[in-house]
Amino acid sequence: MATIVIIRGDGIGPEVVEEGLKVLKAAARKVSLALEFQEALLGGAAIDATGDPLPEETLHRCKQADAILLGAVGGPTWDSHPREKRPEQGILGLRKALQLYANLRPVRLFPSLLEASPLKREVIEGTDFIIFRELTSGLYYGTPRGIDKSGDEERAVDTLSYTTSEIARIARLAFQAAEGRRKKVSSIDKANVLMSSQLWRRVVMHVAQEFPGVTLEHMLVDTCAMQLIRNPCQFDVIVTENMFGDILSDEAGAIAGSIGLLPSASLGGAGGLYEPIHGAAPNIAGTGQANPIGTILSAALLLRYSLKQQQAATTIEAAVEQVLAQGYRTPELEQPGTELVGTQRMGDLITRAVETA
Ligand code: NAD
Repeated sequence: MATIVIIRGDGIGPEVVEEGLKVLKAAARKVSLALEFQEALLGGAAIDATGDPLPEETLHRCKQADAILLGAVGGPTWDSHPREKRPEQGILGLRKALQLYANLRPVRLFPSLLEASPLKREVIEGTDFIIFRELTSGLYYGTPRGIDKSGDEERAVDTLSYTTSEIARIARLAFQAAEGRRKKVSSIDKANVLMSSQLWRRVVMHVAQEFPGVTLEHMLVDTCAMQLIRNPCQFDVIVTENMFGDILSDEAGAIAGSIGLLPSASLGGAGGLYEPIHGAAPNIAGTGQANPIGTILSAALLLRYSLKQQQAATTIEAAVEQVLAQGYRTPELEQPGTELVGTQRMGDLITRAVETA
């Protein structure tokens, strides 16, 4: 039996996780998949209960689990805490401890939500790609780093470093994903300037030889930033290093129209961490207005990547599409002619659509 750790988190986290869980259970029942759920604390809720944003017990449970479903952490209550006692340290610590080196962000536009995108319908129609961002190395982790002072002058240093194996493992995941999709990988780098990108390109080309059925293209990061806006449909799987991925994935996320819609998966070692891309949204917490779809689609990714339940994952995604096509919208997506629903009702509608699929 697969064990799933449920981390509800802070702010709207508990509200959206409740709906994600409902839909996950319905999809599992549909394919007779037995799941065991364990609750764990992280972030602000963990600080309040134990004084620690990542309690030992949470880490232990997560290490034993097949997958983790997380809401979001953070909020003004803990903003004045010292850095090591802030909610975000819980997530960063968990990613590092579980060696989740690959962050996946699928960007898919639901036909019924095309008008919600800031881009024109004819540009975005058919957009369906996935970004693989390297998550545990590169500029955010490299050493030396720091600021030196000499007289009045200060000098800051960050280090962008990658090893062959760090590049190869994320590239391999990207190619594997492309094999099950439209069989195209776009590797994003800055190989005309950066040494780390030259190694990146060389290693990606080497890994590509293991996947003869997949087409590889290289694109400079500045060109990619432009192409995501001009012609996002050209992409299938994007693979890139940590900082480029950080920036490009937010740009890509904006295309979808609402931060509440997008799921993510962090993979690497054992298990996987699944969470919506949004934060704890304290401004709408407790109002029942949060869009649970990002969390519900994260549950679909959990089924697909950690539990290899492709059919159950597709059932959830189709159910989301169906409910949106029927015109139901949470407040941030409301438009004339749509029917306004809250977090719980949206979760109920998608659960019902899964059950009747
Ligand atoms: P946020 O994503 O929480 O909110 C940004 C805006 O989007 C807000 O207006 C919010 O109301 C809206 N929004 C977010 N999720 C929504 C949803 N599901 N449905 C409808 N609207 C939604 O980002 P923020 O305001 O910058 O951060 C709030 C807190 O969350 C901070 O403490 C931050 O540190 C934390 N945070 C946590 C994570 C995480 O847990 N992975 C990620 C980002 C931010």
